[in-house]
Amino acid sequence: MEPFRIKAVEPIPFPGPDERRAALVAAGYNLFRVPSRLITIDLLTDSGTAAMSAAQWSALLSGDESYAGARSFERFEVVVQELTGYSEVLPVHQGRAAERILLHALLGLGDLCVSNTHFDSTRASVEAAGAHALDLPAPVEDDVADPFGGDIDTKALRELLAGTSGPRVRCVVLTVTNNANGGQPVSLPNIVATRNLCDKYGIPLYLDASRFAENAYLITERDPAHAKSTPREVAHAMFELADGCWASLKKDGIANIGGLIALRDAPLADRLREQVIAFEGFPTYGGLAGRDLEALAQGLIEVTDADYLRYRAESARWFGEQLGLAGLPVLQPTGCHAVYADAGLLLDHIPAQQLPATAFANELYLAGGVRVCELGTLVFGRRDPGGGADLPAPRELVRFALPRRVYTASHLEYVVDVTEEVCAKAEALRGYRIARQGGAMRQFTATLEPL
Ligand SMILES: *Cc1c(COP(=O)(O)O)cnc(C)c1O
Repeated sequence: MEPFRIKAVEPIPFPGPDERRAALVAAGYNLFRVPSRLITIDLLTDSGTAAMSAAQWSALLSGDESYAGARSFERFEVVVQELTGYSEVLPVHQGRAAERILLHALLGLGDLCVSNTHFDSTRASVEAAGAHALDLPAPVEDDVADPFGGDIDTKALRELLAGTSGPRVRCVVLTVTNNANGGQPVSLPNIVATRNLCDKYGIPLYLDASRFAENAYLITERDPAHAKSTPREVAHAMFELADGCWASLKKDGIANIGGLIALRDAPLADRLREQVIAFEGFPTYGGLAGRDLEALAQGLIEVTDADYLRYRAESARWFGEQLGLAGLPVLQPTGCHAVYADAGLLLDHIPAQQLPATAFANELYLAGGVRVCELGTLVFGRRDPGGGADLPAPRELVRFALPRRVYTASHLEYVVDVTEEVCAKAEALRGYRIARQGGAMRQFTATLEPL
């Protein structure tokens, strides 16, 4: 059960079927463009959507809004130093600001950045620096539920580093948990093996630590060697193995805005601070209010609580089981921040170019005002440079993200009911074509037409 009781409530909207249809048409059939006042249950993302605790709300009032050297920064800095063991702490307004600043300092034209999987904003920053982002996820064996499906392929990494492209590799990034790959955790032995390779070739290892606490908890659950460790101890061990990290604190900061860079290299940190000044703000606030730093400091303490993390993992597991019973092919094992399902298997009569994952997500909205996120060809498909049809994504996934401490089990039961309704009429669903699209991250703004 939820390890908290509810102190403040917010009503949720119940638009009728006609209103939902009109909203979807007006949005160009793109759920990112539907206003939240027309959404009943919003599982679009776990980013910035958390409910803060009473302790966080009360910390807000002690925010010190001084421009330079605020007390709130000192509190934030100490909490991050104790959590990570890194001496240098730079707050920024959100994760992508951290990526832009750090990756531009590490990478230049023609360099390689290697990761278990780059998150989409990470990839965008690598490419903006003129470098190339290479994903080396550990190979998946079909039909085997891998407890550490977020690992990097260390064999491929070793070959890359030993080969002719080796000298171009300037940075290795482990995204924990591996969001783009089903939210699966990276194991400690995998981080150790990556560290050893980085040491051998003199390459820095950074963690994209946006979901560090969920990764640490899943290690305590899935690795018998750490069954007796606390999530905080495991998190500490993860950070210890890297040279530094960045994070979107809109995830495991359990707050609505924020990000950070933390590292050991003091001269590099000084160079990064100059960029923070240019793009974010004075280095003791980095684009955040003092009260945000207070809420984040408290959130970073609460997020490693084992009861909270167990609830998070168990509710995702239960929700995944229920969605499976409703007829949806759910990816196993489930992680913490979301349940992923393969809409391509359910809607195998719709070809990838006709966006089956979008077809499923849109139907879920029409049927019950539930918003989920497509992670199929609209997001990961590549446009054919020759002007032909899109090159399809590897899988047509939909993600049911779980905002932290926001929805109860009965809200999720409602989502299961709506899903069952949509699965029952799967054969009748039709695909979409893209009517208008932008460049990078087209999913946010594209408009579609039903076929
Ligand atoms: C959200 C996220 C980011 C980007 O952070 P923003 O706060 O959205 O800018 C980077 N990496 C991962 C793994 C994320 O989940």
